[in-house]
Amino acid sequence: MKCGSGIEARQVNELFINIDPIQAGGRLTGDAIKAIIAYGDGYSVCDNCRKPNRLDCISKPPIAEFHKEVAAWLNMDAARMMPGARRGFQAVAHTYVNKGDPVLLTSLSHYTEFLAVEEAGGVACEIPADGRHIVTPELTAIKIEEVRKKFGKNPVLALIDQVDYQYGNRHDVAGIAKVAHQYDVPVLCNGAYTVGILPVDGKALGVDFVVGSGHKSMAAPAPSGVLAATAERAKDVFRTTAIEGDVTGRKFGIKEPELMGCTLMGATLVGMMASFPHVKERVKHFDRELANNRIVMDALLSIEGTKILSEYPRKHTLTRVDTTGSFDTVAGSHKKKGFYFSSALNDKGIFGLIPGATRIWKFNTYGMTEKQARYLADAFVAVARENGLPIKS
Ligand SMILES: *Cc1c(COP(=O)(O)O)cnc(C)c1O
Repeated sequence: MKCGSGIEARQVNELFINIDPIQAGGRLTGDAIKAIIAYGDGYSVCDNCRKPNRLDCISKPPIAEFHKEVAAWLNMDAARMMPGARRGFQAVAHTYVNKGDPVLLTSLSHYTEFLAVEEAGGVACEIPADGRHIVTPELTAIKIEEVRKKFGKNPVLALIDQVDYQYGNRHDVAGIAKVAHQYDVPVLCNGAYTVGILPVDGKALGVDFVVGSGHKSMAAPAPSGVLAATAERAKDVFRTTAIEGDVTGRKFGIKEPELMGCTLMGATLVGMMASFPHVKERVKHFDRELANNRIVMDALLSIEGTKILSEYPRKHTLTRVDTTGSFDTVAGSHKKKGFYFSSALNDKGIFGLIPGATRIWKFNTYGMTEKQARYLADAFVAVARENGLPIKS
């Protein structure tokens, strides 16, 4: 099948078990696919836009209701949809950070958090993770003291990943937020790998902002995401426009400058809304996801020489492994070199491994059935056996 102009229909998720770390939680639901078809036209959600003319106030389709539900679901006071988690970081950084201000990130932060700080003119101050690749409240306190000495003031903002993209480790955001608040530092919880995957409660975390990614973790089309805030912080980040034209005297009502007025239109927003009931349900069953991850982990660890670099037992399905002592040992003598590994898995219907990677790589078992997890587990062991690697009994 072609979509015209030489564009092949993509069939990855139809034909393969997809373990690509960034794709597993974003796969669309059937309802999202229907929404994309129905609302593909650009400003389609604007058919029934009435005063006060802002995206999150539209009631047909039920966009206003959706915004309220998302805020309540995250246990925050207000929410806006954003074109990606990164635009959430950007809106918050732009609100609080001035040129030369220190901003707390972590040594495991995503590049988009750095860019948000850079664009606002801030200085990146990384809280180092400990030897287990975990960012702790203790290390946060030490870093803040360091920053105070160096800059003569407190950091103006902290961006903290609840689960980081490198190891898929869980970090004590609640403990970190408590420390940060002792220094009046507002805290943004980066839930790119958690919102839509497992239950996230902003008030229990004690954070000022929760950011999620629609296309990474909420079964939504790209670019989509959410920025939720406490009532106090919503006043800052979701402030309304004050500008006035000097010739026409025009003003722009309740449009919000950090959001450039309106954000997600058409298919992205309605796709996100269509998946939302499914997403709300699935976060309640994260234990099943961990059980499936365990099946695959046990199989990988049964292959002699394989190491897990993520915290163990796992608290998230995104996992980093080191197969330098197993799969990599045959790469040198294989006619396909390191490509044998991803290629053998592809042949077994598994997609999402970086071609050529045999040393350190990541996979994500999120969203698979138990049967698929067993299939994947068996596939790893089969590839090991086919290449003469010893299996522990
Ligand atoms: C993927 C990711 C992001 C970026 O999310 P977008 O929605 O694509 O902007 C930010 N932070 C972390 C930790 C991520 O894994």
